Amino acid sequence: MRKISIFGATGSIGQSTIDLIRRDREAYDVVALTGGANVALLARDAIELGADIAVTAHEEKLGALRDALGGSGVKAAAGAHALLEAAQMPADWIMSAIVGAAGLAPGLQALKQGTTLALANKESLVTAGPLLMSEAQSHGARILPVDSEHSAVFQALVGEERAEVERVIITASGGPFRTWTHEQLEGATLAQALKHPSWDMGARITIDSASMFNKALELIETHEYFGFSPDQIEVLVHPGSTVHALVGFRDGALMAHLGVPDMRHAIGYALHWPERRDLPVDRLDLAKLGTLHFEAPDPDRFPALRLAREVMEIGGLAGAVFNAAKEAALDAFMAEEIGFLDMARIVEAVMTEMSSDQGLGNAALTIDTVGLADTEARARARAHAARLSRA
Ligand code: NDP
Repeated sequence: MRKISIFGATGSIGQSTIDLIRRDREAYDVVALTGGANVALLARDAIELGADIAVTAHEEKLGALRDALGGSGVKAAAGAHALLEAAQMPADWIMSAIVGAAGLAPGLQALKQGTTLALANKESLVTAGPLLMSEAQSHGARILPVDSEHSAVFQALVGEERAEVERVIITASGGPFRTWTHEQLEGATLAQALKHPSWDMGARITIDSASMFNKALELIETHEYFGFSPDQIEVLVHPGSTVHALVGFRDGALMAHLGVPDMRHAIGYALHWPERRDLPVDRLDLAKLGTLHFEAPDPDRFPALRLAREVMEIGGLAGAVFNAAKEAALDAFMAEEIGFLDMARIVEAVMTEMSSDQGLGNAALTIDTVGLADTEARARARAHAARLSRA
């Protein structure tokens, strides 16, 4: 039996992972499941899957988690330290699906045991890509991408030489505001941003898709994970979300990965890699689909992509600052304190301030420097958000 743990088990990716595990229950020995506020769901799944331990990130939820686990025999723990301890528990395969920079420390800890880390938490690569990749290398661990675009690129590269890759194209649905004017975007509401046209995902990534910050994170993720230079990586808007990514080779061939928008494909690929197994995802009917539509992204209405290119150019701590400012700006938008376009304004302002004050590109990248940059960027972003909400 394969020992597995799922970090972020109560979220969208976590639940899709559990769905796959549930279908083949006998094959897995579940070690740790972790969650945040939703302790009822965490306890239910931990009991059903016979996990050794259930961990909530929130210390104040420990009592509620213990109550929900009742006399099931599943251990309960809470807090950041408990998450790190769970990441040290031996497992053959660990899903990293906590949302945000909070996923970095448990992911780094998991790599130290030389395991396979299925990485949905793109923020880890954005904030500390070189750290994550070198930690994997020095402990003989493996990182497998779970983001659909990166899983698609990974699959298109099987059997190919990296040196022969000319370019990589990741697609973006364009989100609910693809055709909106700048003026309309200024007034876009939270409810409108939460209506994704093709993917069913957690709330935060859904809003990031509407603002294209999700694609911005993925641009950086592609650069950090595969090592392609920024000018080799392109973004193409493709509203149907059928083609997830394309890899172009030196002979002009373009290899595309197509599939229905269902994250269980990328999760299942990472779960069974290097094999392919049957997965419960719908099959594409291309004749029914008829056409595939593509268009170039508009950098004026969606400045996140331009900011991501600046991050890749600066390097160092720029990714940590970018991601933290984005997370704090997203919090403010979700609290309906600032407007939709204010998110990009805040991120750009924080990046400009911190680049000129601190020379982000030259800073050493360690878990401590990343943590400090993250804290400062969040504080600055919150101050900008407070000013904008009063204005
Ligand atoms: P969700 O918001 O649905 O779930 C997030 C998970 O993280 C939940 O288990 C949540 O617990 C937990 N969590 C929240 N805050 C913390 C914290 N501070 N510390 C520890 N755990 C926490 O997110 P998604 O599943 O949508 O996304 C997870 C990751 O996967 C993100 O990095 C996202 O970018 C990436 N991803 C998601 C895709 C998708 O289709 N959803 C596609 C590709 C990548 P609780 O809910 O109990 O509070």
